Amino acid sequence: MEIKKLFDGEKTVFSMEIFPPKKPGTIDSIYSTLDGLSGIKPSFISCTYGAGGNPADTSTVDICRIIKEKYDILSIAHLTCVNNTKEDIDLAIELFKQSGIENVLALRGDINDKVEPKDDFKHASDLILYLREKAPWLEISAACYPETHPNSETAAEDIRYMKYKEECGAKHFMSQLFFDNSDFYRFRERAEIVGIKSPIEAGIMPVTSKAGILRMVSMCGASIPQKLARLLNKYEYNEEALKDACINYSIDQISDLIASGADGIHLYSMNKPDVAIRIYQAVKNLL
Ligand code: FAD
Repeated sequence: MEIKKLFDGEKTVFSMEIFPPKKPGTIDSIYSTLDGLSGIKPSFISCTYGAGGNPADTSTVDICRIIKEKYDILSIAHLTCVNNTKEDIDLAIELFKQSGIENVLALRGDINDKVEPKDDFKHASDLILYLREKAPWLEISAACYPETHPNSETAAEDIRYMKYKEECGAKHFMSQLFFDNSDFYRFRERAEIVGIKSPIEAGIMPVTSKAGILRMVSMCGASIPQKLARLLNKYEYNEEALKDACINYSIDQISDLIASGADGIHLYSMNKPDVAIRIYQAVKNLL
């Protein structure tokens, strides 16, 4: 499926991300997540691969095949390269072929202090070029960073490498989570200035726990604006109130992004269908 076609119409694309069950051998539990999400009609669902530096296995491809075959939804398999050799990527390509997976999010991957990176791929752009050569039938997406990737010295440098990923063959971008839409709007302007033409989806993560989101932002470098910090502090010890307040926060963010013409909303569902459904119900008529 040509990913750019999803963005041809007037409507804002709505997509979601899930992750493989954490316990090995429990892949069947993904059905309850996917059944729970079935009230939503996303343009695609993507599935992470070894996120947080965790060991990766074939569950990403298995889940993407289930999304496609059982739920009839386009799936995008995440694939990282920093801990993989060319032979590992060849195996992944073979698995994609066998499982009918045609869409990949090509990533460098999180660097894990305990795992020595392999030498074959340094950046997502190396993986994109390799996939283009070895599997030209794959549609490639890539990641981008409204608040600039923490490894980049400057926003200008980061956006140049984003443009390079497009030149290498990325047809679509999914953004890192952010909580202040003005960060996304400034980033979108930078992308426009360097001539990036591919659609950019805005990554929205609903917060459900203060400790969880603090851990997440410390890993990915996103910032927490005052408005969200106030909610986290006020409802820290009231789980239901925190959930309600933060769902409303995500709905406000998404409504404003749609009104400002965002190409797409990529919802980090965190495998929590009840939260994703509440958000989708509130914004579906705006898309
Ligand atoms: P790159 O594009 O390689 O960028 C990393 C840094 O290098 C940036 O500072 C960039 O500006 C710079 N750079 C880029 N290209 C070059 C180049 N050619 N030469 C020199 N410098 C360069 N991680 C997982 O492990 N599994 C997942 O499933 C996963 N899913 C993700 C989904 C989304 C939507 C996003 C936004 C991130 C995801 N991540 C995942 C996290 C991601 O792996 C990390 O953010 C990682 O640190 C960078 O990956 P990247 O592909 O953006 O890297």
